[in-house]
Amino acid sequence: MKSYTEYLWFNTRSRRELINITSGVEECIGKSGIEEGLCLVNAMHITASVFINDDEGGLHQDFDRWLEKIAPQEPVSGYKHNLTGEDNADAHLKRTIMGREVVVAVTKGKLDLGPWEQIFYGEFDGRRRKRVLVKIIGE
Ligand code: ZN
Repeated sequence: MKSYTEYLWFNTRSRRELINITSGVEECIGKSGIEEGLCLVNAMHITASVFINDDEGGLHQDFDRWLEKIAPQEPVSGYKHNLTGEDNADAHLKRTIMGREVVVAVTKGKLDLGPWEQIFYGEFDGRRRKRVLVKIIGE
């Protein structure tokens, strides 16, 4: 069995951002030389997510509005976590809602995704360097 590990780095300009990372993950599979196996992609930070959904701008605005309804950034003083001096309690909650990782099958050397499935990095407390782990195992 072969395995391959790579870290993808991000530094978003805004606090919240969704980035399509599908092609970056596909490049990792190409470098791994693995034809049949599994590909794990996970955020290495507790205020960012990796999830799979549609690459459609309206939907991405819907995600942001929905997350802001459930876990609004303001008022910052409304969260116990922020009593520690941090201001990112909402980002921890958003990360938990959107998930930590995805696992995608690798078939014939490609990501075996559904018709509209794309892999996204969800940033909820950005403007600093953060990374995503890509781990591929198989033959
Ligand atoms: Zn925090």
